[in-house]
Amino acid sequence: MLTDLVQIRLLGEKKRDENLKFRRFMKAHDHSDRILRRIAQSIEDQVDCTQCANCCRVSTVTIADRDVERLARYLRVSPARFVTDYTTESEDEGRILRRTKEAGCIFLDGNDCTVYDARPDTCQRFPHMVRGAGSIASRMWQFVDRACYCPIVYNSLEAFKEELGFRY
Ligand code: SF4
Ligand code: SF4
Repeated sequence: MLTDLVQIRLLGEKKRDENLKFRRFMKAHDHSDRILRRIAQSIEDQVDCTQCANCCRVSTVTIADRDVERLARYLRVSPARFVTDYTTESEDEGRILRRTKEAGCIFLDGNDCTVYDARPDTCQRFPHMVRGAGSIASRMWQFVDRACYCPIVYNSLEAFKEELGFRY
């Protein structure tokens, strides 16, 4: 199991074309989504996200109305104040949590999420491999990028290739 984040970034980028080819391979070959989810779950069980927190540093977090309400309640501010102080509008993604260049998500402190109990839905389900709507194959477009920074995704894709007999 590879968890070194520098290696993950290098190998994820190096394997970008391979992973895009694997995405096409998955669409063309019958396979069991249930088995892939089971493999991803076993990898997720072996990775300690509290020691990693790389997604909080690297990726943006979109915010739904229910996230605003839950986080505002947790921080004891009004929803309007929460939106002003903690979110920003992205051209591509809509409302997202504010970020800093150095630390990533505004709520990240070291490797800790300071709003963990009220964190947005998308954070709870990240990296959306085991808990995602639709088959893994139909969501592979997300995973080629995530394989460059998330150990769960990188190792899952490698295990899927082994399971499905994919050779590059
Ligand atoms: S809200 Fe918490 S879990 Fe979500 S990105 Fe920010 S620090 Fe990470
Ligand atoms: S979901 Fe992936 S990137 Fe995020 S903390 Fe867990 S292993 Fe790290």
